[in-house]
Amino acid sequence: MAKYTDSVCRLCRREGQKLFLKGDRCYSNKCAIDRRQYAPGMHGQSRGKKPSDFSIQLREKQKVRRIYGVLEKQFHRYFVMGNRQKGMTGENLLRLLERRLDNVVYRLGFAASRPEARQIVNHGHITVNGRRVDIPSYLVSTGEVISIKEKSRGINRIKEMTETLKDRTVPAWLSIDANNLTGTVINLPAREDIQLPIEEHLIVEKYSR
Ligand code: SF4
Repeated sequence: MAKYTDSVCRLCRREGQKLFLKGDRCYSNKCAIDRRQYAPGMHGQSRGKKPSDFSIQLREKQKVRRIYGVLEKQFHRYFVMGNRQKGMTGENLLRLLERRLDNVVYRLGFAASRPEARQIVNHGHITVNGRRVDIPSYLVSTGEVISIKEKSRGINRIKEMTETLKDRTVPAWLSIDANNLTGTVINLPAREDIQLPIEEHLIVEKYSR
């Protein structure tokens, strides 16, 4: 499967905002967005012409894709799924992305960023309802219980992250039991639970062209 291997900070600089892909570094003064506030590449500092509607829509889509770490084809599949569901397509799209297991692991505070959460899932450290699930795109459902596998709780990085769980707040659609390193899906996420600066109508417009 295709994988993005270049510096993830370039993605933030391209979108002109923090996408929080590097955990603690994103909150430090080492963040590339704070240090170089222009797009990457040779022409990054040149003033371009006024962006077209298409390029605004494209940038919004790319931004969301990069926040959740989803490749183009898969992102389009989420859009098609969202379009088939009742309600607003853009909201449905975001709610589907938010239900991804790697995102939930990040939201519960088991990882410092979504890329790290994806790695934790890929490496088989996560269980859903007691069974190991190593598929980052797995969509969680109401009532499901997400835990760190017993055997994985001693791993240094996981210990480091989970020691701070008691101080963390999780979104309203999830609950956390910090003592048992377990989270529960109370409800499916609503749009207002996804507190990200996203204008999803632009993505719908892009795909409706
Ligand atoms: Fe983006 Fe984080 Fe890199 Fe800053 S440190 S540019 S927020 S990935």
